[in-house]
Amino acid sequence: MVFRAGAFDELAAETARLGERALILTTPGHAALGERAQAALGARAAGHFAGARLHVPTEIAARAIAQARLVHADCCVALGGGSTTGLAKAIALELALPILVVPTTYAGSEMTPIWGLTDARTKRTGRDARALPRTVLYDPVLTLDLPVAVSVASGLNAMAHAVEGLYAQSVSPLTSLMAEESIRAFGKSLPAIAAEPKDLAARSEALCGAWLAGTILGSVGMALHHKLCHVLGGSFDLGHAETHTIVLPHAVAYNAAAAPQAMSRIERALGVRDAAQGLYDFARALGARMALKDIGMPADAIDRAVTLATERPYYNPAPLDPLALRRLIENAYEGRRPQERSHGESH
Ligand code: NAD
Repeated sequence: MVFRAGAFDELAAETARLGERALILTTPGHAALGERAQAALGARAAGHFAGARLHVPTEIAARAIAQARLVHADCCVALGGGSTTGLAKAIALELALPILVVPTTYAGSEMTPIWGLTDARTKRTGRDARALPRTVLYDPVLTLDLPVAVSVASGLNAMAHAVEGLYAQSVSPLTSLMAEESIRAFGKSLPAIAAEPKDLAARSEALCGAWLAGTILGSVGMALHHKLCHVLGGSFDLGHAETHTIVLPHAVAYNAAAAPQAMSRIERALGVRDAAQGLYDFARALGARMALKDIGMPADAIDRAVTLATERPYYNPAPLDPLALRRLIENAYEGRRPQERSHGESH
């Protein structure tokens, strides 16, 4: 892992450690960065696939794998956010190619062995060591142009990894330290980025928060928040990072009474009195959209979301109660303030 302003300059040298023929991956909107990488890699650039899309649709993965085979790629260089890294992982699973990632958002996927593939609105995910990138170049200079709205949503997506890491089943003192530091880093840097998007110190701090958050996501299991976002995003085609932003304060409120130590760490990191309310106010002050109805969730989807979120058991610090979950999703749908589960609510 290389972390410094200007780390992109090391792309050729770091790629040379992995292979001779790199397939470069970007989204269509980020193709210019792929062309820069192509120029930097020279003869080591075997091709550029600029078709990465959110949630790695299987047909896109199949096209990228076909191109990797066609050009005899022996490694992948992914430049971009979680969508591009996810595509590199899909190729690595099929062809066992090592991956180098240059992250340009705060998604954190570059630090995890978690892969995801989407077919006809169903997203499958899993863990596989072949999906874990071999090399990561963090260069905050490449994030200076990330629009404020995307920076805020992506940063809150990363904070969600850190928050759920604090009450994970496999939590450890080390992951808790990293999580608190990640939340603190975003708590400080996101308002600075919203005020001045080209603030390199703030961009570096946010990217550092993303590195920590991604490491936590890759190390410990997640809970209710990630389950809800997976269900809502995958089933109703909602923006990934925006869904995380909206759901996070509600999931935290739901778990507040069952995870008091986690709440204390979030409160200390953000300098607030109540973790859930503090996260809600933090996102709102940054101009984030706060209601699922505003990012495309249909009103008649609430019932289905509750069913999907409760049909299979999974770990969560507070028991999963369909009535309380329905209230949580309704609040997130309307963009209301998060509410703690009332005492005596059925378990
Ligand atoms: P993304 O990769 O789709 O990027 C969002 C948009 O921002 C894209 O259009 C991209 O081209 C653009 N962009 C990226 N960097 C930019 C920059 N520096 N300047 C200007 N524009 C830029 O979205 P994301 O939020 O980074 O990732 C979301 C995806 O990642 C989801 O599919 C999610 O499931 C996945 N994810 C996976 C893991 C994992 O561990 N497997 C972890 C987190 C997220």
